[in-house]
Amino acid sequence: MDFDLTLEQNMIRKEVRKFAKKEIAPIAAELDETETFSADLTQKMGEIGLFGMVVSEAYGGQGMDYISYIIAVEEIARIDGSQAATIAAGNSLGIGPLYYFGNEKQKQKYLPKLCSGEALWGFGLTEPTAGSDAGGSKTTAELDGDEWVLNGSKIFITNAACELSWGVTVQAITGTRPSGKPEYTCFLVEHGTPGFKAIPMHKKFMWRASSTAELYFDDVRIPKENILGKVGDGFHQMLQTLDLGRLSIAAMGLGGAQGAYDAALKYAKGREQFGQPISKFQAVAFKLADSALEIECARNLLYKACWLRDKKRAFEKEAAMAKLYCSEVMGRVANHAVQIHGGYGLMKEYDVERFYRDQKLLEIGEGTSEVQRIVISRYIGC
Ligand SMILES: Cc1cc2nc3c(=O)[nH]c(=O)nc-3n(C[C@H](O)[C@H](O)[C@H](O)COP(=O)(O)OP(=O)(O)OC[C@H]3O[C@@H](n4cnc5c(N)ncnc54)[C@H](O)[C@@H]3O)c2cc1C
Repeated sequence: MDFDLTLEQNMIRKEVRKFAKKEIAPIAAELDETETFSADLTQKMGEIGLFGMVVSEAYGGQGMDYISYIIAVEEIARIDGSQAATIAAGNSLGIGPLYYFGNEKQKQKYLPKLCSGEALWGFGLTEPTAGSDAGGSKTTAELDGDEWVLNGSKIFITNAACELSWGVTVQAITGTRPSGKPEYTCFLVEHGTPGFKAIPMHKKFMWRASSTAELYFDDVRIPKENILGKVGDGFHQMLQTLDLGRLSIAAMGLGGAQGAYDAALKYAKGREQFGQPISKFQAVAFKLADSALEIECARNLLYKACWLRDKKRAFEKEAAMAKLYCSEVMGRVANHAVQIHGGYGLMKEYDVERFYRDQKLLEIGEGTSEVQRIVISRYIGC
């Protein structure tokens, strides 16, 4: 077995870490406090190649492997969850479906601008009455001449209501299958299409500097050529997108855990009580030891899942395990980190407070922890 990263993967870690420390760290707390999505920062992330990382260079991407992409998300999340969310959702939910299921014309049209970070694309699956049960969605599309007419709504859609938002992939019911179950199809809907409204969602507990939107479709007319793949492929496309998305959320958990641990270790060495650094108290040292252990396990599990993906082998079970484990590890590590900071850990001047809040979404978005356990149970034959 070879646990060494390649020269290129190590270089990506070094460069992304340098960028995150220089460009994100100084403003992350303020963007969080003021609930500001920064188009400027997003475009800077685009300039250093953080969008379209696994997309072929022919469409403006970086043509890298999945481990490289995951390392980049991890390094951004080590500094800030909101910016990592913009990158993770941009790559796996925005660009992913277009790259894997789009036709040549769609790829040529959309990917170059999305891969440069000049524009963002959303992934519209969740609805007010259909979250974990994505099959329960109600948005419909009916064919009328050469156009589809879309009606319904979506909620909690990342990157879908900011100045860079260009459009969204929307899953809608287009008929009934022979089994009696709904037939789903995905549509590419651009902002500015009459009847399509995207409303930013504010007052979030976490990821406060990322864009989250409610979407409304009121007789939105979509040309036939804006179908993604074929009629009826929608549900399958969405599930495949979520399999890959789980790796991105896992990377956010791993990076966030590392960031909270780094802060806790530094603080524990500097803070003195009873005449010695608190890191010398076994109760504190053991929290740090447990954190280091779990981060190591999380990294190995996630990189193995990415390695399977890069080798084009089945990776779905490991992706669900990595998503579940990394997000819960970040919960335990961020909790220890706040505890180690004592009262200061509850103050906004210290980053651990933000890590503690940002973590919670990881156990909910792109399949809750309960749903991951259902997925894993099925893979192991329960
Ligand atoms: C900030 C943010 C960004 C998001 N970005 C996107 C996005 O870009 N695109 C998108 O489509 N969605 C997005 N989502 C939606 C997210 O994926 C859903 O919130 C998530 O899938 C859970 O759905 P729900 O909130 O409706 O909860 P529900 O499905 O109502 O779940 C509520 C609770 O019930 C539990 N539960 C449900 N079913 C079962 C079951 N069968 N067994 C055991 N427990 C169960 C859940 O685990 C959970 O604890 C985002 C959400 C947030 C908050």
